[in-house]
Amino acid sequence: MPTSNVITPEEFRVLLPQICDERTSNDDRGWTPENPLYAHCAVVSLVAQDLFGGELLRASLLPYPEFAHMGSHYWNQLPDGNGIDFTYPQFFGRRPPLVGKLKSREYVLYDPKTKAPRQIMGRYKLLALRLASIRSGGNLLFDDPIYQACFSAAIESPCQKMKFGCVITHNGSVVYQGANKTIPELCSMCGPKCIRFSITSRTESMLGACGHAEEWGMWDLVFRKTPLDECELYVAGFYLDGLPWIKKASEHTCLRCAVQMHNAHLKAIHVPVVDRWQSITTKEALETARAYATKEKTV
Ligand SMILES: [Zn+2]
Ligand SMILES: [Zn+2]
Repeated sequence: MPTSNVITPEEFRVLLPQICDERTSNDDRGWTPENPLYAHCAVVSLVAQDLFGGELLRASLLPYPEFAHMGSHYWNQLPDGNGIDFTYPQFFGRRPPLVGKLKSREYVLYDPKTKAPRQIMGRYKLLALRLASIRSGGNLLFDDPIYQACFSAAIESPCQKMKFGCVITHNGSVVYQGANKTIPELCSMCGPKCIRFSITSRTESMLGACGHAEEWGMWDLVFRKTPLDECELYVAGFYLDGLPWIKKASEHTCLRCAVQMHNAHLKAIHVPVVDRWQSITTKEALETARAYATKEKTV
């Protein structure tokens, strides 16, 4: 399995003032450049959890008049049990002695009743995108709206191994945006640990609980009666910490999706190579994916 470069909590702390601003703050009017982490506790804690694992802690700020207008405060509990507060500087040394309660990231990101994403989702995705961009050395792909849409979709993927975002366009406009996600009926292949961890990457593509991002997208368009042979598909992979999986060559590596894309007569498939999208035909996707599936080519 490919690995990404690791970031330490200290490095994350140093990067934060560079990626936080009024657009990622929960109080854009109250935000000032002098206090860059102001009203950022929840978004920063979510991104920190993506990087370091562990739990989210929350406490009310209402008993503390100086900070009551902020409502509540979030910080992180690392897997070793230690608490760490990445937005501590916003209190200018006067952070109250808070006792936190565990909160799930689902609670923070989605309304429990309607299951709809909360307002924080957009800010979380923007902060995660900025971090991934800076960590990948300012890769130009992150400035591309379709790549950004792939990232934004992928970050909601529940996959334990790799997150994929897919965008499909029809006559130049985006008609689908989504991620790989669990097929409920196959979830026994996902728990407690995803079966794909014991399978060589790019082989045995039918095994796994996730429906692939390309599949969900194509079927969505079939049901909406959009002609697939007039569509172009973009797909990009991301590691669990948000870092991009960038290809070195123009290829597709999944035979399962390549077969379906070929049969659907998609006009083109776009994959991220080095620092830009590269276009391949469905025939090329089929040929490159087959070579991995048969282990003629290996990772
Ligand atoms: Zn998966
Ligand atoms: Zn696939």
